[in-house]
Amino acid sequence: MKELQELFENNRAWAENSLKKDPGAFQKLSDKQTPKYLWIGCSDSRIPANEILGLPPGEVFVHRNVANLFPHTDFNCLSVLEYGVEFLNIEHVIVCGHYKCGGIAAAMESTQFGLVDNWLRNIRDIYFREKELLDPISDPELKSNRLVELNVLYQVMNVCHTTIVQNAWANNKKLSIHGWVYDVATGLLKDLNCCISSIDQVDATYRTLKLK
Ligand SMILES: [Zn+2]
Repeated sequence: MKELQELFENNRAWAENSLKKDPGAFQKLSDKQTPKYLWIGCSDSRIPANEILGLPPGEVFVHRNVANLFPHTDFNCLSVLEYGVEFLNIEHVIVCGHYKCGGIAAAMESTQFGLVDNWLRNIRDIYFREKELLDPISDPELKSNRLVELNVLYQVMNVCHTTIVQNAWANNKKLSIHGWVYDVATGLLKDLNCCISSIDQVDATYRTLKLK
């Protein structure tokens, strides 16, 4: 018997159902994708981007990794961002973290987990920089939640510090970078009210072009 047969059955039922709602659904998508959103989220299985946004296939360009990081040296992240901004004309980049993130929790422990420790170093660096703010929080869950939010804000700025985003702004492309958090316990998104839409909102240290 074929392995994972139930997944193929699920897929067939899903495709049939999609065609019932819109007979041209797949034909339209086979030509091209025109998403307006790039989602940078955690790999956590509880956070499927399209589903929680209520958007069908073709609407969200997605990049996910452990703890929704955007390290400036990561070619995977950079390639997704460049393709999204330059070729798909993405208008909104959404960095979305989530409470109860295993990656954030691991980065707060004095334990080794393996290769991932080197990836999570990015989060330890944020903790170190924000020690004064985080150390006084005695409740472990509140402390973890705060680090989840801070991590999102740092990753938003990492996206904004790329030449990709700064060139898009210089070319007058409409492009905003947003910071959100998803609560796995309620299914709801929280806006961190961090929306960066122009080079004026970026510290001069990180500007790669002179302001006109
Ligand atoms: Zn996570």
